[in-house]
Amino acid sequence: MAAVADVPLNVVILGPPGAGKGTQAERFARDHGIPKVSTGDILREAVTAGTALGRQVKALMDRGDLVSDDLMIGIVEERLARSDARSGFVLDGFPRTVEQARALDELLAKRGPVVVVEVQVPDEELVRRVRSRRICSKCGRLVSAFGSDGAAERCSYCGGELVARSDDAESVVRDRLKVYWRATRPMIAFYSQRPTYRAVDGAQAPERVREAVVEAVAAAIGRPVAGLKHGQAAQPESKA
Ligand code: AMP
Repeated sequence: MAAVADVPLNVVILGPPGAGKGTQAERFARDHGIPKVSTGDILREAVTAGTALGRQVKALMDRGDLVSDDLMIGIVEERLARSDARSGFVLDGFPRTVEQARALDELLAKRGPVVVVEVQVPDEELVRRVRSRRICSKCGRLVSAFGSDGAAERCSYCGGELVARSDDAESVVRDRLKVYWRATRPMIAFYSQRPTYRAVDGAQAPERVREAVVEAVAAAIGRPVAGLKHGQAAQPESKA
């Protein structure tokens, strides 16, 4: 398998809340030595740290509404300009609107194509999953408790207390799904005609979804993903 020098691996993983896109994005990023850039994580960190950005977005996030395109585009532009994203990145949670997708095209104009993988899961399964997931109050890691009867009480990485995310209550989840479909369906239409767009079945076991994501990226770029040259060190769950 010949390495293809200097081909950046620019990947967007799309999917509704609870589709497992964060987990898949993190895994793909780690396996390929590129950073995961999760806009939800960046915003949650800002809220936890009580920065000006955090204070600006907290109420919107708690309601499940979207943060403004301008603000999000600025955050992502700044993040993707960092050196660790030069050989590629996995975006999780961005873009969410056509406006953001257009801005991403502009940002990437000279950085090679973007592969878009949509993780599809039926809404009722999403509600069930999101209701049972927890976040570590100390390090911010998301723990998916779906599939198991008793949710863990402590984070397996740092021992921090696991709590429900403030926007994971069922009514908020349903609102977030409405917001997602309203704002994001047009964006999926924007991408879906491209040869670099792929959809995968996210209702399968996580390991199967992981394989499907790798196959989808390989099919989109027309060569095995393992044949690409990436940045050296895998990020330990990069959260910004
Ligand atoms: P997530 O963790 O991706 O589900 O994001 C959590 C929340 O952060 C969302 O419900 C939005 O309020 C906000 N958010 C994250 N990414 C974006 C984005 N690309 N555009 C607008 N709002 C966002």
